[in-house]
Amino acid sequence: MNRMKRIAVVGASLAGLRAVEFIRRAKFDGQLVLIGAEKHHPYDRPPLSKEILRGEADQERLALRRTSYDDLNLELQLGLRAQSLDARAREILLESGDVVSYDGLVIATGAEARLLPNQPSLDGIHMLRTLDDALAIRAALEQRPRVAVIGAGFIGAEVAASARQRGLEVTMIEALETPLAQSLGPRIGRLVQEVHERRGVRVQCGRRVERFGGSPRVECIWLDDGSRVDCDLVVVGIGVTPSVSWLDGSGVDIEDGVRCDETLGTSIPGVVAAGDVASWYNPLFEERMRVEHWTNAVEQARHAVSTLLAPAGEAKPFESVPMFWSDQFDIKIQGAGRPKPGDELTVVRRGPDGEKLVALYSRAGRLVGAVAFNQPPKLVQLRMLIGKRGGLDEALAIAGD
Ligand SMILES: Cc1cc2nc3c(=O)[nH]c(=O)nc-3n(C[C@H](O)[C@H](O)[C@H](O)COP(=O)(O)OP(=O)(O)OC[C@H]3O[C@@H](n4cnc5c(N)ncnc54)[C@H](O)[C@@H]3O)c2cc1C
Repeated sequence: MNRMKRIAVVGASLAGLRAVEFIRRAKFDGQLVLIGAEKHHPYDRPPLSKEILRGEADQERLALRRTSYDDLNLELQLGLRAQSLDARAREILLESGDVVSYDGLVIATGAEARLLPNQPSLDGIHMLRTLDDALAIRAALEQRPRVAVIGAGFIGAEVAASARQRGLEVTMIEALETPLAQSLGPRIGRLVQEVHERRGVRVQCGRRVERFGGSPRVECIWLDDGSRVDCDLVVVGIGVTPSVSWLDGSGVDIEDGVRCDETLGTSIPGVVAAGDVASWYNPLFEERMRVEHWTNAVEQARHAVSTLLAPAGEAKPFESVPMFWSDQFDIKIQGAGRPKPGDELTVVRRGPDGEKLVALYSRAGRLVGAVAFNQPPKLVQLRMLIGKRGGLDEALAIAGD
């Protein structure tokens, strides 16, 4: 066992909470402190854009830990933002002026929603990252507004679906040629667009927002083709940026988030990172990546803790097949792997509207990605196959089964 006496975890959400749980499970009996900027106990974000916006669940359902925090023997510091890190002195300065010392550190500060360039602060324009954001949007949806969603990535598409499921008029605006084009490619993105259009969402792709109309409350959005979308509520979902500003000047290397090695160790000994904030070299795909999905935050928390507690030189690489799910209307979209624009795409479709499908992305015969609509068991099998560096032939057998 290592000689650490006090471990600090910064970021009290999914990766941070799971990290402290794994630390205790590994029989670390020293002091443990968990610091989080939000005032809430750690909660789950995926339902924010789904059940919470649809009005089907309350915040009590979101708790990430169902049993007592006392069992973790933890100093839980909520509502306190880490302002800076002095890695040489091994101290974290909090915004409150307090200083937290440590000899092992887990960085789990996640990511924050990105603003549009020159986004005005008009009433009725919202972002969605936190529980407070979701509750504010839900309260606004209850007034039955005309909704405009800017950005058709996962968050935007889920918000559009949830608002439409409440029977509201919804327009989704996307700068790229289709929804989810960046993650799934334009061909599958077009199928996602059809799913939305069939259910009454107005989808405007290849359009940029020029400006907003109305003051002090938003009334419309002007697009770059001169058209105008009338709306009473706008949700901007154009992606996130990793929360690393508190690490400025600390010596922790930053490159699209906290730059980690294969083991999730950072440039500073005794400091590891996990979750949306961490970019690392994934040996399975032979590339550096940062993943913004739930499963990765949990798996990385476990691995980062094992790296932190490992004897010198014994930490292992984190080889993983990233995966996600996204619920949009009655479609559960799931994906695994690391598809890229040049990959060969094979689509196996089923069902009356072809809305049950498996898409396989391959590179030189190797399966590198898979997406499934409403076929969870197949996706699990395909994820395992990607992890084994399996081939397209085997994948087709699973997809067509
Ligand atoms: C609305 C929504 C829906 C989602 N749906 C899905 C889904 O369906 N499927 C899926 O796979 N993934 C989904 N995700 C993504 C998933 O929730 C994230 O990947 C996951 O939350 C990442 O966990 P994390 O702990 O790394 O970061 P975060 O959840 O971002 O948590 C980081 C925490 O650190 C805190 N923090 C930041 N800076 C500081 C600081 N300086 N000091 C102290 N604390 C700080 C933040 O306040 C935050 O509480 C969704 C995300 C959102 C927002």
